[in-house]
Amino acid sequence: MSGWTTAADGGRERNWSGNHRYTRGAFVEPADLDELRRVVAGSARVRVLGTAHSFNEGPDTPGSQVSLARLDHVRVDAEAGTCTVGGGTAYVTALPAMHEAGWALPNTGSLPHISVAGAVSTGTHGSGVGNRVVPSSVTALSVVLPDGDLHTVRRGEPGFGGMVVGLGATGVIAEVELALRPTYDVVQDIHPGVTWETLLADPLAVLGAGYSVSVFTRWRDEPVPGGGEGAVGDVIVKHRTDDRRPPEEVEALLGPAQPDRAPSALLGADEHLTPRGSVGPWYTRLPHFPPDGDPSFGHEDQSEWFVPLGDAAGAIAAVRALEPLLAPVLSTSELRTVAADDLWLSGSAGRHSLAVHFTWRDVPERWAVVAAVEEALAPFAPRPHWGKTFTRPVDLGLWERAGDWVTQRRALDPDGCFTNAYLERLGLV
Ligand SMILES: Cc1cc2nc3c(=O)[nH]c(=O)nc-3n(C[C@H](O)[C@H](O)[C@H](O)COP(=O)(O)OP(=O)(O)OC[C@H]3O[C@@H](n4cnc5c(N)ncnc54)[C@H](O)[C@@H]3O)c2cc1C
Repeated sequence: MSGWTTAADGGRERNWSGNHRYTRGAFVEPADLDELRRVVAGSARVRVLGTAHSFNEGPDTPGSQVSLARLDHVRVDAEAGTCTVGGGTAYVTALPAMHEAGWALPNTGSLPHISVAGAVSTGTHGSGVGNRVVPSSVTALSVVLPDGDLHTVRRGEPGFGGMVVGLGATGVIAEVELALRPTYDVVQDIHPGVTWETLLADPLAVLGAGYSVSVFTRWRDEPVPGGGEGAVGDVIVKHRTDDRRPPEEVEALLGPAQPDRAPSALLGADEHLTPRGSVGPWYTRLPHFPPDGDPSFGHEDQSEWFVPLGDAAGAIAAVRALEPLLAPVLSTSELRTVAADDLWLSGSAGRHSLAVHFTWRDVPERWAVVAAVEEALAPFAPRPHWGKTFTRPVDLGLWERAGDWVTQRRALDPDGCFTNAYLERLGLV
C-alpha cells in the first residue's frame, strides 16, 4: 500500500442524509489516475464513493472504498460540442463551464451537488417527456478495470449500453465524455391549482405542459387557490424560452401560474430553491436546488420507481389510495416523466416512463410504508431507482438486457473485484 494516499478516518463515514453508515475495509483517495490504477490493481475488492448522495449500500465494500475527489477536471471542447469530466467531478463545477463555452446539457437531476460519474452509474434523471436519463448524454467512458488497465468505450461500440448505468460494477469511471447542445434559457413557474381530476384524466397533458414538469404532492386534496379543495400540490413547469408554449395555453390546462408564490412545504425551505418567474441559463433553473444551499429536507430517505408512462393514471391512483398510510412518514412526492433510452439497466430502458418519487421522514415506520407502495405499484412493472431505498427483490426480467449486463460484468471483472452485498441483493453478481 506504500505511496497511496490513505486516510484511516478520512472520507465521509455516512451518506449525505446520514441514514447509511458505510461498510469499508479502507478508505483511499488517490492523488491522480496513476495512483488510482495502482490502488485498483492492488486491491481484491473496490467500490467508489462519489458525493455520497445515494441512499443505500451501493458504495460499501469489505475492501478499498475509493474517493475520486482529486480526479476533478472539466474540459469543454467548444468545436466538438463535448465536455469531458473527471471521475470525481461534480455537476456544480461542470455545468457553468459548459454554459460559458456556449453549450448545455439537455437535462439535469434536481441538484448539482452530485458527481457526474455517480449520477451516471445509478441512472439519475430529471423530467420532461422528451428528456432521457442524464447518463444518456454520455458519449464515452474511461474506466479502470480490476488489473489497473484503463479502458475507453465509446457510444456505438459493443457493450457501451451496459457500461454507462454500471452501478459501480463495470469499472471505476475515471473520465466521462458528455455530448452537449447549444445553450438555452429556462423560466420556471408554479401552478398550484391543478386538480386530481385534471391530472388523472390526462397525466401526460399535465406532465407534458413544458420542457420539464414536476408534480409535487402529498397525495391528499390540497386547497385550490381562489377556493375549493382537490388540488394535487405544486406543479412546477420549466419552459425553454426559445421553444415555449403560449402561456395562455398552459394556463388553460394548469390554471394560473403563480411564480411569486412561495412554494408550499413540499420542496423544503424556499431559500434553498432555484429562482422562479425569471429567465436564466438552463443550469440555474433545471435543478430545483442551487449549489450554494442544502438541497431538499436533509435528514431523510428517498425511494423512487419507474413505471410505463402509459400506466401513469393507474399507478398514480394506486398510490393515492395509500394517502392515509403515507401521511405520517412522507415529506413530499414528485412525479416526473423520463423518455425511453437504450442503456441496459436504466430505469427507463426501452420504455417511456413515469418516475414516482418519495422523500421519507427518516423514521423506522417508513419501512412498512415503502413495502406498501411497492405492493401498490407491483401491477405496473416497477423498476426501482438504483440509488434509493427499495425493499422487494428486484425482478430483473423487467430489463430486456439484464442478462447481457451480468454476462458483460462477469467478463470485465471475473473475480468480483467490484461486487458487493448490494450487487448480490440485486441478483447482478
Ligand atoms: C437531495 C437529493 C436529490 C436527488 N435528486 C435526484 C433526482 O432529481 N433524480 C435522480 O434520479 N436522483 C436524484 N437523487 C439521487 C442521486 O442522483 C443518486 O443517488 C446519485 O447516484 C448520486 O451521485 P453520488 O456521486 O452522490 O453517488 P454515490 O452515492 O457516491 O454513489 C452511488 C453509486 O455510484 C457509484 N459510483 C460513484 N462514482 C463512481 C465512479 N467514478 N465510478 C464507478 N462507480 C461510481 C458508487 O459506487 C455507488 O454505487 C437525489 C439525491 C439527493 C440526496
